[in-house]
Amino acid sequence: MTALVIRGGHLIDPAAGVDGPKDIFLKDGRVAEIAAPGKLKQANGAGPEVQVLDATGLTIAPGLVDIHVHLREPGQGYKETIATGTAAAAAGGFTAVAAMPNTKPVNDSPEITRWMQAPERGASVRVFPIGAATRGSKGEAINDFAALKSAGCVAVTDDGYPILKDNIMRETLSAASRVGLSVIQHAEDTRLTQGASMNAGAIAFKLGLRGMPREAESGMVERDIRLVTELRDPRVHLHVAHTSTAAALAAVRQARRSGLRVTCEVAPHHFLLTEEYVGQYNTNAKMNPPLRAAVDRDAMIEAILDGVVDAIATDHAPHAIHEKEVEFEHAPNGITGLETALGLSLRWLHKEWKMPLGRVLSLLSAQPAALLGLKGRGTLTVGSFADVVVFDPKTEWIFRARDTRSKSRNTPFDGWTMQGKVKWTISEGRIAFEDA
Ligand SMILES: [Zn+2]
Repeated sequence: MTALVIRGGHLIDPAAGVDGPKDIFLKDGRVAEIAAPGKLKQANGAGPEVQVLDATGLTIAPGLVDIHVHLREPGQGYKETIATGTAAAAAGGFTAVAAMPNTKPVNDSPEITRWMQAPERGASVRVFPIGAATRGSKGEAINDFAALKSAGCVAVTDDGYPILKDNIMRETLSAASRVGLSVIQHAEDTRLTQGASMNAGAIAFKLGLRGMPREAESGMVERDIRLVTELRDPRVHLHVAHTSTAAALAAVRQARRSGLRVTCEVAPHHFLLTEEYVGQYNTNAKMNPPLRAAVDRDAMIEAILDGVVDAIATDHAPHAIHEKEVEFEHAPNGITGLETALGLSLRWLHKEWKMPLGRVLSLLSAQPAALLGLKGRGTLTVGSFADVVVFDPKTEWIFRARDTRSKSRNTPFDGWTMQGKVKWTISEGRIAFEDA
């Protein structure tokens, strides 16, 4: 097995409370030793097969964890494959991604779950499948959660669609909690969003597009919280995906005050962009939930800064050029995000809004890993997985969509200035990405 020494860098490991100059020794896919600069003991006797990475001036952190990505395999390899999606993840500093089940066919079985994790898929970083909550994600009959979990699923969801029916959502929450799985809800009351393609409001009106009211999201979050309250079971964990409205965040905030296990994630596009970005029918500004009003965007920032948000997740959703280059109403929802999440978070949350670097990194690694119970991830203590990102926190650079590792280029951040350049991403002790 391989052995790696990362020398001369500054380690930030929020979960372990470490923020200082450290050398790290990685062996057999795990963290073997952490020591003050020049003080590693085991690495000295390890022989010439040890590769040394010079991280002088660089930050070393636990590999990033994205709990919301669409890898498109099986079934839509023309948009993305597990190999290309995880290559993009590695380039963005991610060492673990949770893959949503809205593939073709839907991942509602142990067979597909295992297929996604097979070595033949050529993943650069660890893939954690999320199973469909209901058969075919149709919202009618719940799946066998114990079987999904033993095949490797780390949560259940019907993402892309909500679990609309009260009784089915109640059953999902209850059954998932019995086997220790979280339920991730795509909170959208689709009875209010039929035929809609952007946020409801003046801009949608001006563009002649049908709008999605914010109540479609917040109403569903409130309904779900009511179900969690009624179940009175501390094992029940509801996680709200891609939160986009001030009202939904307010509901999560209130639920937490009441002691409920309700968590939420926010995507970079929802804390950076507003519906104005749709401009003249820009389909790379079309996603679900849609870009909202400035007041919602500001609520995302506030909730990230004050700790109500548990994770930054990209909702990486690749689509082919021919699919996005159509009338706005007909374009599919979603944008790519794996290669821009860190650069945007450091540029805005850290530099612009003064969030401490450790807290930003925690939202991108320790907290999402804990949220899905990914043991040994999101931290760099001895014995944990050798999942590491090494980056230059000071470097500013321009993201170019044409340089992406993803198969798709549907990003609104083409040409944006990023901060923090990834130098190495190490997945279970292997170098998964190196900046040349
Ligand atoms: Zn969704």
